[in-house]
Amino acid sequence: MVIGYAVIALVANYQLNSITNESRPHGSQTDTPELTRNNYLMGFLNEYRSSYDVTYYDINIDFNIEQKSIDGFVTIKAKSLDDIDTLQVDLAKNLNIKKITHQNSSVEYSREEDAVMIFFNNTIDKDTLFDFTVHYNGIPQSADNPPWSGGFTWSKDKNDRDWVAVSCEGEGARIWWPNKDHISEEPDSVRMAFTVPSDLMSIANGQLRSVVEKEDDKTTYEWFVNNPINNYNISVQIGNYVAVQDTFIKENTIHYMNHYVLDYNKEVAQNYFPQSKEVIRFYEKYFGDYQWWDDGYKLIEAPYLGMEHQSAVTYGNGFSIYNGVRSDSWAMYGVIDPLIIHESGHEWFGNSVTAIDPTHIWIHEGLQVYSEALYFEDKFNSYPVGVDYLKSIKSRIQNKIPIVGPEDENYWALNGDTYMKGAWVMHTLRSAINDDSVWFAILKEFMVENAKGHVSTEDFFSKVREKTGIDYTYFSEQYFYTPNQPELEYYQTDSNFYYKWNNANDNFVMPMDLLVNGIEQRVLPKKEFQSFDIKKHSTIEVMDWKFYIKPIQK
Ligand SMILES: [Zn+2]
Repeated sequence: MVIGYAVIALVANYQLNSITNESRPHGSQTDTPELTRNNYLMGFLNEYRSSYDVTYYDINIDFNIEQKSIDGFVTIKAKSLDDIDTLQVDLAKNLNIKKITHQNSSVEYSREEDAVMIFFNNTIDKDTLFDFTVHYNGIPQSADNPPWSGGFTWSKDKNDRDWVAVSCEGEGARIWWPNKDHISEEPDSVRMAFTVPSDLMSIANGQLRSVVEKEDDKTTYEWFVNNPINNYNISVQIGNYVAVQDTFIKENTIHYMNHYVLDYNKEVAQNYFPQSKEVIRFYEKYFGDYQWWDDGYKLIEAPYLGMEHQSAVTYGNGFSIYNGVRSDSWAMYGVIDPLIIHESGHEWFGNSVTAIDPTHIWIHEGLQVYSEALYFEDKFNSYPVGVDYLKSIKSRIQNKIPIVGPEDENYWALNGDTYMKGAWVMHTLRSAINDDSVWFAILKEFMVENAKGHVSTEDFFSKVREKTGIDYTYFSEQYFYTPNQPELEYYQTDSNFYYKWNNANDNFVMPMDLLVNGIEQRVLPKKEFQSFDIKKHSTIEVMDWKFYIKPIQK
């Protein structure tokens, strides 16, 4: 009876709090998706989620590939941050819960959308380590268009053998195993035991600990991640894999790389995957040490384009620098596979330094794409090549919705301008700061100081303020919280050059560089016209390749 009341009270309480505009901090964002009940439950850290901190997941899943079904249990170890009678864990509503146990007894639970409310038989005191286990089964969501629309990919390899993988960025790991599915929550370590038909291998994150043959011609592969990890990075790949071993040597230390590819691709992978070492060297130079050597680094061939799964980056771009499987593959000057650099770079942007709310996901994607421009600048020792790369992606910017949307709403800002505009905004900030030694120190310190941590857009700009002594709030407000591209309106007379900002916030005071008769000159446009003296027939060029602005000549 008491439990029943608790359920009603909780649901009522949720409904009181639900789906108001109060949690939308930037009121004009009518173009961000409607806040659904499930996104409210998944996006907001209510008291039933913030009252515990997950320390460990023990994931055990038996795969039935023929039926595309899973059957397993997950033990969640956590620390109570408050006295707990009730907590929320998350599991997709289409999956069936068989039972939930705590201290060897079954406990009551209720479900609403993807939220599972667990009602313990006794109060768990604050500051206690405790665990509970969710036993479940069902047919998990299949992926419509992986990795953009995630779920399981149940496919066949070229030899018509089963080849299975999961990708779930945005959808959340709850589509295949129960967890506290908020991006700010990472366990300290994870054990995964995936049981598959014995003619296939199961590859996951971290190190392989054991391979145990079971009855019924099945084998369990036990993997272990000894680091914090995003839930959506936890992955499984099942297929006819073989290992391709490589080493990464740094300062007399040998690190082992154990890539996995389908057996018929072993030779091509041996020649192709070493480019990941150059990628790692580049990222270490600019953004600090690779954080996961105790879990290793591996590329795993996948039946979709790729994903940044931590220490287990998936790769499906066809082993070709020039003609990958994706027709619109980003131009990379024929020097690097776009998937290897992009997904491996996420070991820094996203996996090590993680957005504290998915609305700040430009920290994963915008910085990642920007780092690719820096890779070319470094590789060719040429600033113009980096700019050329940025120009090649510029037409994909839409300026329809702000890069950063509402917090607490499970809003994964992946569809708008997170990638390309995010990269251009970083390039623009470098130009505004106008001191490369400061700029590269900002990037590296931000990444090193927040390694294995969570950050917001504001955290990035407080590092910028610390290093420059300048408050760039006007900049972040313009470029991250409005969709508007500033326009520099200008005209010249025989004796003067006039300029001002349009389509910008009133407080927007970004400097702008001009070429005046070939000589660089910095001006500080405002919303009202200003001018400077020029000679008759002067040639003036707006350096719009350095700033994400639109020049408008009147
Ligand atoms: Zn990405």
